[in-house]
Amino acid sequence: MTALARDCKWCGASMEGKRSDAIFCSRKCYAVSYRKANPEYQREYQRKYNRDNPDYQREYQRKYVQANPDYHSNYRQANRERIAERDRVKRHALKQETDQ
Ligand SMILES: [Zn+2]
Repeated sequence: MTALARDCKWCGASMEGKRSDAIFCSRKCYAVSYRKANPEYQREYQRKYNRDNPDYQREYQRKYVQANPDYHSNYRQANRERIAERDRVKRHALKQETDQ
């Protein structure tokens, strides 16, 4: 048996004492590895989780903005053109609505 085959495929930890056919050192390493290899599964899982836990998502965003107080001004600066285009489209739609 080679030394490589006895290391966790994800984190590289020693597999001493694990089953001889084990590839990962833990359930967690298996899960992380699977999610990295299947990004569409991960996205769908995250979407479902956020749908089922709206408070978690809101709390996560609140904490993130609190830890990054410049987040909104940085975003506006980095996306100036995108925001201008978005507002232009919005104004155009509003105008069409009121014209009818
Ligand atoms: Zn591992």
